[in-house]
Amino acid sequence: MKNSFYANTKVVGLIGHPLKQTYSPFIHNVAFQFKNLDYIYLPFDVISDNLAAALKGVMALGIEGLNVTIPYKEKIIKYLDELSEESAIIGAVNTVVNDQGILKGYNTDVYGIMESLMPFKDEITGSKVCVIGAGGASRAVIYTLIRYFKPEEITLINRTVQRADSLQNYFSEKMLYNNFKTKDLFPPELIGTFQSSKLIINSTPIGMFPDVHDTPTELKESFYQGQLVFDMVYNPTETVFLKLAEKQGAKIIGGLKMLVYQAAKSFELWTGEEMPTEKISRALELLIKE
Ligand code: NAP
Repeated sequence: MKNSFYANTKVVGLIGHPLKQTYSPFIHNVAFQFKNLDYIYLPFDVISDNLAAALKGVMALGIEGLNVTIPYKEKIIKYLDELSEESAIIGAVNTVVNDQGILKGYNTDVYGIMESLMPFKDEITGSKVCVIGAGGASRAVIYTLIRYFKPEEITLINRTVQRADSLQNYFSEKMLYNNFKTKDLFPPELIGTFQSSKLIINSTPIGMFPDVHDTPTELKESFYQGQLVFDMVYNPTETVFLKLAEKQGAKIIGGLKMLVYQAAKSFELWTGEEMPTEKISRALELLIKE
């Protein structure tokens, strides 16, 4: 930063435990440089017993904002002063803004999912969709689908089917949407479900580096020409799951766009500035390929 003596540098960061490999510091610090903003993004690995104290520290030190990751996305809510509409319904926060001592929670994964799926809005609206996974990312995707795409039916598929059942009950109550089915993740039995879905979404870590040969289904009959297949995994940028779907003529959507756009929304909430998303995507692709 030109002519800066670092007296006014603003601090944002990521809170979680344990902090595994994350691209967020890279994305934000490179974006601050591109935009010539006097900000720094730091990782804060905080144990559970210290979460409340850490948030008091955020206010005392004037830290501008945080991203929140596992295991605090839900737990942090009770320490916040305000919640955005989407984070209140989803029940999870991935971004905190310190607005002059008032801590506000948001879920910017919704924005990343919107950016990824909006180009296909007409195809998704009123169609059958299936979501593999029942964790935090699945919650954000279910909210986005119901709120913005109104699918005819959502099938929730999970290794632990009870978690899919509780998500179904949660969203039926919160969003008054009742067209759910739930299924175990047993690929041969799922072929019919996959084939009748216009959109399949993987919101599990299956296929994520280093387990890059894993895939939620290895059966090519799961996919068809013109189907939409969205994998939230971003490393590798094209998973085995997506490669298989593409070979069958499906239109594929990788997780990198979601990663960049959820970060862009956090960036905007903290700085009021737009993130240069094209440049960041290119930088990130190079980094992931290294
Ligand atoms: P989470 O809350 O821990 O949920 C993980 C989900 O994946 C659960 O449904 C779990 O099933 C399932 N799962 C985990 N390992 C599995 C395996 N080996 N076989 C079958 N199912 C498995 O995690 P999350 O926060 O939802 O994140 C899920 C994935 O989405 C991660 O890979 C994360 O990197 C990715 N993500 C990407 C973005 C992006 O911007 N592209 C944003 C958010 C998340 P059980 O219930 O049976 O345990």
